[in-house]
Amino acid sequence: MHYKSTRGGQENISASQAILHGIAKDGGLFVPDSFPQYSYADLHELAGCTYQERAARIMADFLPEFSKEELESYAAPAYAPEKFEGGFPAPLSMLQNGQVTMYLLELWHGPTCAFKDMALQMLPYLLTGSLRKDGCGKKAVILVATSGDTGKAALEGFKDVDGVSIQVFYPESGVSDMQKRQMTTQEGGNVSVCAIQGNFDDAQSGVKKIFTDPQVNRILEENGMLFSSANSINWGRLLPQIVYYFSAYCDLMRTGEMDYEGEKINIVVPTGNFGNILAAYYAKKMGLPVNRFICASNSNNVLTEFIRTGVYDRNRQFYTTISPSMDILISSNLERLLYDLTGNNSALVASWMNQLAATGRYQVDAATLQKLQELFWGGFCDDGETLQEIREMFQTENYLCDTHTAVAVHVYKEYVAQTQDTATPTVIASTASPYKFASHVYKAVTGEDAAGDDFAVASQLSAVTGTQIPAPIASLQEKPVRFANVCTAAGMREEVLRAAGIR
Ligand SMILES: *Cc1c(COP(=O)(O)O)cnc(C)c1O
Repeated sequence: MHYKSTRGGQENISASQAILHGIAKDGGLFVPDSFPQYSYADLHELAGCTYQERAARIMADFLPEFSKEELESYAAPAYAPEKFEGGFPAPLSMLQNGQVTMYLLELWHGPTCAFKDMALQMLPYLLTGSLRKDGCGKKAVILVATSGDTGKAALEGFKDVDGVSIQVFYPESGVSDMQKRQMTTQEGGNVSVCAIQGNFDDAQSGVKKIFTDPQVNRILEENGMLFSSANSINWGRLLPQIVYYFSAYCDLMRTGEMDYEGEKINIVVPTGNFGNILAAYYAKKMGLPVNRFICASNSNNVLTEFIRTGVYDRNRQFYTTISPSMDILISSNLERLLYDLTGNNSALVASWMNQLAATGRYQVDAATLQKLQELFWGGFCDDGETLQEIREMFQTENYLCDTHTAVAVHVYKEYVAQTQDTATPTVIASTASPYKFASHVYKAVTGEDAAGDDFAVASQLSAVTGTQIPAPIASLQEKPVRFANVCTAAGMREEVLRAAGIR
């Protein structure tokens, strides 16, 4: 198995090279040149495995340079029971709402209380493994642009990992107080955090530019370093995410909820950069029986429009919402889906991406749109509807969910109302702990504004709902702020060189 660029400029790249470089030289994203197939018997076998075994087995199929034993030795600590409150990394909570059955796939029991941990606890092992195999002794400089949750999860995954340093940029006023606090108090000798004046797209574009800047790359090389990314465009991020969709299905087989060959589920994902939902799509490509992917957005509904019309247009108002990890107008991983839907037509994909870069807009052809709509259903909701959904879920199901998950539930209910698809069991990705967005969740549940700082609010939320504050959030209160610096988008380059210890 090898990797190639979605834009056609690179082929026959090894898995470790794809992981080390993150993005292809032509600006495209790395995709595997084939997908392993899982039969019903394979699913049965996986159903009998632990999460760690499921992860090692699935990842081994995509990483020929890594032995199964190697991957097992990565998965064991990455998904160790003591790292995940409750002991299992990806548990399902079943909710019955009228005729429909929802399985909330809770991906936020890890060290930073958001689903990004699922990939970012694994990525450091994949990346340092790749450095050993292919890095010529170089040190990796990890650049991350974050809308909140990635930054913290990456910092936590990479802190004090040998041969790596990490630099995180977040939009100054685009993350929640708790998210900011999680990042600015980060421990570790190889970490650096900086706010930028701008939104997430500015941060992401800035990082992409530095990444492909030949001069900066030369300076790094002279210093025995190379860039790598922990953003969701990195194959090493996407791959571990495929695992939990298989895992969810296997757990449903184990409990008897999925009991015949080919029985399909829907998968609902609150979507931003399109990474999480793309991993679900790849799982289907590998044989997981999926009926529909439901792509849920907040008011930044560029993907809803795209799925409904085939027009991708980022020239629109940018909203700062209460689900900030989805405040994104350029969903980078969509490029991989387009590559697949067009039958690997890299020229076509490159032309759309060039149009997007030049004009902010492109339109796919009718055949691609049709394929897209057969697989995906898109919907969105605004902040008011999100709050109402949190309230309703708590009142009727006694289930407390965060703002992102609430968007997914709301859009799923809309999907059911419009399609009458009440029969297909549905897995909804629950992407963050409600305590990461405690003030909004408190307001939703009680109808009142919470008083005090984030920690006071978390205590009130806990008291009102009878739920527990996750330990990683409770422990933040005592930690000192280490990183208070702010820079402009134009200043990011210098910041990177400084953090890498070059300037
Ligand atoms: C990152 C994130 C998302 C969006 O996931 P993508 O892979 O970017 O689509 C949704 N919810 C939460 C809580 C997140 O952190």
